[in-house]
Amino acid sequence: MVQKKEFLYEGKAKKIYRTDDPAVVLVEFKDEATAFDGVKKDRLEDKGILNNRLSALFFSLLEKQGIETHYLKTVSEREMLVKFLEIIPVEVIVRNIAAGSLSERLGIPEKTELKKTVLEFSLKDDQLHDPMINHYHIYAMELAEPEEMAEIERIALKVNQILVPYLKEKNIVLVDFKLEFGRHNGKILLGDEISPDTCRFWDSSSGEKLDKDRFRRDMGGVIEAYREVLRRLEENDTPAVD
Ligand code: UDP
Repeated sequence: MVQKKEFLYEGKAKKIYRTDDPAVVLVEFKDEATAFDGVKKDRLEDKGILNNRLSALFFSLLEKQGIETHYLKTVSEREMLVKFLEIIPVEVIVRNIAAGSLSERLGIPEKTELKKTVLEFSLKDDQLHDPMINHYHIYAMELAEPEEMAEIERIALKVNQILVPYLKEKNIVLVDFKLEFGRHNGKILLGDEISPDTCRFWDSSSGEKLDKDRFRRDMGGVIEAYREVLRRLEENDTPAVD
């Protein structure tokens, strides 16, 4: 049994602790919600519990499909054990439908289906407001090697290919999402979390937002939406036999 040890790092939505195994850390999902680089803040009761469950579910699904992630196991309501990663400070955004900053930046109306999946990269730096960067910046700043970026892009697109049809079955459109990667024993692994905090999920029938945009846009019903996503994903998806 891996033991939780001293506190290592606190992010906006998670706290990280060392364990007695240097290759393993414990992630605790907090209830705090932030948006606009931390300018908007609130506590959303049970968000941490829901995101711990949802991330575990997505990581397990991806592992079954051959994607290597940092996820090891869930140890409590809010805690999971993960492989320790040397985080690559690049946020990878995958987009299927125009929304959020893409719509603002390029004037493509929200809800427009993109003819090709779009990948974007941002420097993970709150003080600089996570500026968008390209491969030239990544290599000039020595954030990652070209071979590593090729692997990151391959994994990001594969994750999208797995999650789009999986969520479609649950009547959810995967609009866009953010991934983070890190190095572990010379390999690139998928890290961070996959949850309604980091993805845009729209109900396929009504278009209703089931993600953090409800918080960003003061729409209310944030936790109810996260719970609804979890309910749909945990629903037995074996087709009824008559
Ligand atoms: N995203 C994220 N963390 C960030 C920025 C974006 O998880 O720091 C996610 C966001 O939830 C959405 C996708 O990445 O699913 C694309 O976000 P966008 O660039 O449109 O930025 P936003 O409109 O959220 O500021």
